[in-house]
Amino acid sequence: MAGSPERGSLVSYHGGHTLYDGTGRLEDFVQAAVRQGFAGLGFSEHMPAPPRYPYPDQPSWDEAVRKFDRYVDTVQELKVTYRDELPLLLGIEVEYLPDEEEYLTDFLARYPFDYVVGSVHYVAGIGFDHCREWYDEAAQKCGGYENLAVSYYTNVRGLLALGVTDVLGHLDLINIFSPAPISGDDVAEAEEATLAAALQWNVILDVNGRGLIKPCKQIYPRAELLRKAREMGIPATFGDDSHAPDQVGARLDEVRASMRVAGYQTVTALLPDGHQIQRVELPL
Ligand SMILES: [Zn+2]
Ligand SMILES: [Zn+2]
Repeated sequence: MAGSPERGSLVSYHGGHTLYDGTGRLEDFVQAAVRQGFAGLGFSEHMPAPPRYPYPDQPSWDEAVRKFDRYVDTVQELKVTYRDELPLLLGIEVEYLPDEEEYLTDFLARYPFDYVVGSVHYVAGIGFDHCREWYDEAAQKCGGYENLAVSYYTNVRGLLALGVTDVLGHLDLINIFSPAPISGDDVAEAEEATLAAALQWNVILDVNGRGLIKPCKQIYPRAELLRKAREMGIPATFGDDSHAPDQVGARLDEVRASMRVAGYQTVTALLPDGHQIQRVELPL
């Protein structure tokens, strides 16, 4: 019955983070989605970061991979348990660093992912979204905030060029600690080039409400970028970016509203069809 009007069009393909920076049992995320009548759900746990660039909360690399193995097994089991209630997908949120491309593609080859969320959280080797201090440090290393944003979008295009991304995570995350979107001619040019690359690589934008609880207080992508994306014909989907079961579906009303304002009429779902994953347009 997935996709039928009575199921509504609630989906999320970015969330279910529990290993490093979240809490809870994956089954509780699934049950929360079932209760809300989700039409589809994807788990996108963070890829263990390359050993040279560990996340702040990440255990040793070996331990991180052992935990990741368990994550994959659990999602595969939940898919079977809940097959009549919710189309569930096994995903991953990858981490892109220009000098770790091989690490990324090797890691992806280890598991049977249904889809990949492609994200950039590092610029100049610094995890800029971790805290204000690291954000400022990354900007300093880049030679200012405009350069920080330009370098960020260069990384996003590097990620897209690998051709592994299905859902492009929180497009303008680089604004996270900025009271207003970082602007300037070079930044606007970098944003345009990145949207063009997103179109070229046929990815779906993750419209992600988690920025609303960050200093930037915006949905990613912000209204102006989302409108441009819609005008270019780039598809978009919802991401609750849940890091605990009670965050499933959080802020999706605002996310839906922002897509409507941008002119979208549908939200793109990823639904299993035999051994394939299909893109299905659900009414917004
Ligand atoms: Zn996370
Ligand atoms: Zn992310």
